[in-house]
Amino acid sequence: MAKYELVIIGGGPAGLTAGLYASRSGLKSLLVERGLFGGQTVNATLVENYPGFPEGISGFDLGSFMHQQAVRQGLEIAAAEVTQLLPGQPHRVFTSEHSFEAEAIIIATGSEYRKLGVPGEEKLLGHGVSYCATCDGALFRDQEVAVIGGGDTAITDALELAQHCPKVYLIHRRDELRAGEVLQQRAFAQPKLGFIWDTVVDEILGEERVKGLRLRNVKTNQPSSLAVNGVFVAVGLKPNSQLFANLVELSETGHVVTDVLMATSVGGIFAAGDVRQNSPRQIATAVGDGATAAMSAFRYLRG
Ligand code: NAP
Repeated sequence: MAKYELVIIGGGPAGLTAGLYASRSGLKSLLVERGLFGGQTVNATLVENYPGFPEGISGFDLGSFMHQQAVRQGLEIAAAEVTQLLPGQPHRVFTSEHSFEAEAIIIATGSEYRKLGVPGEEKLLGHGVSYCATCDGALFRDQEVAVIGGGDTAITDALELAQHCPKVYLIHRRDELRAGEVLQQRAFAQPKLGFIWDTVVDEILGEERVKGLRLRNVKTNQPSSLAVNGVFVAVGLKPNSQLFANLVELSETGHVVTDVLMATSVGGIFAAGDVRQNSPRQIATAVGDGATAAMSAFRYLRG
């Protein structure tokens, strides 16, 4: 079993920054990532609010640069999915092919798209149902689509889709948006956006492909239908914390509870980024969490 001082689980901005700081401080560190480096960031066409890039930077490039920088400083990488974490002295991390011993762990597993949980959503995934406008938006050129949600992601997605589509319906369960002011102003100024307020989706309609939506006004209970060729679900994120549920303390929403130094309820196990409770869920804050977690791990290991 390979031995490390620190194993970091997750290769988004939080994990990669933790890896950069830990490696630079001389800790023998391994980062385990099951997919692409950069986490959710890779889906962003243009990141405009991460400092240092006045013209913005693509999320894919940012993730790739963070990866390169951390590896250059000595971070080891394992491309695998962690299947089990056993706490102890040392902690043991299992993937389908490998197992590692670690004196400290940083959980930086981020979050994944929350589902609507309505009929048709699973069946039509990839056939008109999408969770990523940046990835799939261009497939809906000249077609009418809907975006579900009222947060920053929903508005960013709707604005992006308006570049390809003649009409984009934004369907939100309340009568005001959660998204930030600047995005709201851009959305209200975009004539291709049509807002459907106080409304939820009860079913996504279609056999082979999405044909429309069955909707319901939550104030009047009035049902309606809407013909669209695509539906982009942007109703938030759910933390990837299931693996740690019986190990570290989780909040009611399933986020890992940490103190300000990113320590969890178990000694030597830290958490950083979107997976932790009260994360503002920004690349800039995930990066800060990662650096803090690595410094805390260093203090834990080397006193
Ligand atoms: P979010 O802020 O949690 O918003 C989720 C939206 O979906 C809310 O409007 C919510 O409605 C709605 N919703 C949740 N469950 C629903 C359901 N079952 N049915 C219908 N609607 C539902 O999630 P997000 O927009 O993905 O943003 C996540 C984080 O990333 C945020 O911190 C955000 O600031 C950040 N982000 C930032 C940018 C940027 O440009 N700065 C871009 C994207 C994301 P209610 O409003 O009624 O709760």
